[in-house]
Amino acid sequence: MSDLSGGPSLPQERRVVTAIPGPKSQELAARKQRAVADGVGNVLPVYVKRAGGGVIEDVDGNSLIDFGSGIAVTSVGNSAEAVVRRATEQLADFTHTCFMVTPYESYVEVAEQLADLTPGDHDKKTALFNSGAEAVENAVKIARAYTGRQAVVVFDHGYHGRTNLTMALTSKSMPYKHGFGPFAPEVYRVPLAYPFRWLTGPDNCAEEAAAQAIDQITKQVGAANVAAIIIEPLLGEGGFIEPAKGFLPRIAEFAKENGIVFVADEIQSGFCRTGQWFACEDEGIVPDLITTAKGIAGGLPLAAVTGRAEIMDAAHAGGLGGTYGGNPVACAGALGAIETMRELDLNGKARRIEEVMKPRLRKMAEQYPVIGDIRGRGAMIAIELVRPGTKEPAADVTAALAKACHQAGLLILTTGTYGNVVRFLPPLVIGEDLLNEGLDILENALAELA
Ligand SMILES: *Cc1c(COP(=O)(O)O)cnc(C)c1O
Repeated sequence: MSDLSGGPSLPQERRVVTAIPGPKSQELAARKQRAVADGVGNVLPVYVKRAGGGVIEDVDGNSLIDFGSGIAVTSVGNSAEAVVRRATEQLADFTHTCFMVTPYESYVEVAEQLADLTPGDHDKKTALFNSGAEAVENAVKIARAYTGRQAVVVFDHGYHGRTNLTMALTSKSMPYKHGFGPFAPEVYRVPLAYPFRWLTGPDNCAEEAAAQAIDQITKQVGAANVAAIIIEPLLGEGGFIEPAKGFLPRIAEFAKENGIVFVADEIQSGFCRTGQWFACEDEGIVPDLITTAKGIAGGLPLAAVTGRAEIMDAAHAGGLGGTYGGNPVACAGALGAIETMRELDLNGKARRIEEVMKPRLRKMAEQYPVIGDIRGRGAMIAIELVRPGTKEPAADVTAALAKACHQAGLLILTTGTYGNVVRFLPPLVIGEDLLNEGLDILENALAELA
């Protein structure tokens, strides 16, 4: 484990030796308050000293179990050996030349790996960027260039980023969009097959939601005007919603019938997170374009659009890119992360995490009816909290539960349109003992709140 865990001296254990946050973190938080814009918040203001494997060690000597992975980024750990080695070597050779000026091999190699790993055996090409939002924006540019159309269709509860166009694509107002308009035009939002909250129940959810979505696209937008349909195959910020089985294939088929570019936003769900390289593989979907970021490079900033060569090539030379896009250190990190995922079979590890978590969560749900739904796949699992016996969102209980877990040394994140979802995103290299200890803490916190 030492090669994954932030150096051999970082013990894989939970340790709470001060209040959370401790005095040194509180001092730093006071400095942050004076120097950093309030719009940049912190979920848990413990200041990090080291992190790796399944723990985050803070400046006060506390060691927290990590069920967040920096929002699904450090799937291979926070300082995986292969990531550190390759990035360090690259740093010593050169930090930057700009791929658009004088290129280098690692960018090409990342593109080759993405062609290999993403679904479908058609010819594929890739363009690299710095952030997920940038990848999504570029997917839209590419789809518009290819189709000569303007409209973009997205779904209820979808999240695609914080830049102007991706704010328009994102569904939730507070905190992502509130006060930041006007938003980009030609974006249309249609219903999502959200089984837990579908009014007629989960059984006909896929069929009904797909029919409604397609009806709105054809009647309100006109299929012939649509450049792209963008969807997260397993929604992240919207609350780890798994679209009812059958919904994604129907929407993908509709896109194909109408010459619309089908874009899978796998920024959160990709790279072994759900127990597959990409979540859309679960229903055999082959997207035209796929956006990736987060887990791709072991914590270094990198994002990509990968897809059908003829679509990717529709944008004119010089139309895509950016100063830092596909930075060589980030590319080295990606090659190290992919190497780690293959070598340690992190898809298998993600599936094992699900096998450990789901039965324990089901037992908790029997005892604590505040848990209304358990869902997700692999190491992308969530519970949706409600007033017992109803589906009324219990955002207050969710916040209290997160706080209690944080105090006990377990980092968990909340999410969801209604703020009532606790999501679990442990690093895929977390030890099973830590995973179980984290679930013990969650269970205790539920008992205290009940
Ligand atoms: C995080 C996320 C984004 C935005 O990525 P950034 O790197 O934060 O810009 C886009 N789509 C999905 C599905 C995400 O989870």
